[in-house]
Amino acid sequence: MVRSTDCILPSGAYLDAILGEAADTTLCHKLTTMNVLYDIHTHNDCDYENVISVRNVFVSNSIPAELPTLYSASVHPWYVGRDWKKLLEENTGMIEKSAFIGECGLDKLRSHLDMDEQIILFSEMAQIAERMGKPMIIHCVKAFSELLAVHKQIKPSVPWIIHGFRGKPQQMNQLISKGMYISFGINFNAESLSLCPTDKILFETDEYGGSVLDVYRKASEVTHIPLETLAQFIAHNYLDVKK
Ligand SMILES: [Zn+2]
Repeated sequence: MVRSTDCILPSGAYLDAILGEAADTTLCHKLTTMNVLYDIHTHNDCDYENVISVRNVFVSNSIPAELPTLYSASVHPWYVGRDWKKLLEENTGMIEKSAFIGECGLDKLRSHLDMDEQIILFSEMAQIAERMGKPMIIHCVKAFSELLAVHKQIKPSVPWIIHGFRGKPQQMNQLISKGMYISFGINFNAESLSLCPTDKILFETDEYGGSVLDVYRKASEVTHIPLETLAQFIAHNYLDVKK
């Protein structure tokens, strides 16, 4: 188990309260004033003290027997073939238990599916997210116009979070104008992060091997927002997408 020693916060009961989806909103808001850090999307199974991580589980033929406490679930354009409908049907139970739908999305550079089928699959995931009332974590590579077209068609009521955003401000603003959240990883575009409204920012580690604290620190340097203030913004945003 890897532990960060930089945050000062009691973990145990407080973190359990959040993980238990504390129905008590007063408690939730009290918690936002503390330095809990949120990693909205990770493939790592390391636990870091005072970090709440949304672990990604791919819906595939080899789902782990023991699922993480807090996870997102979806088929992914990289790892899925034409059997995706069957996979979704067979795994409805674990998708229902997930906190987020994702990562799912569209990828023009890498997928076993052509773009038309990716769009059908992504639309299906978006409809599942709507039916289940869960926020979506979205992977999008060079397919933002297609993504916006699906968004226009579905008119989602649940939050859409663009994960690992590295694009330029113009592209980001287009997504934000549709109400989407932007999740930044360690290799973010500094100009975009600086211009992103603070109520739309989330952070993630994705495949980065360290703690999300490294992303918070780098973001704090770039935006000149003190780390603690930034942590409060992100906590509010996390609770916003989860409500
Ligand atoms: Zn990922």
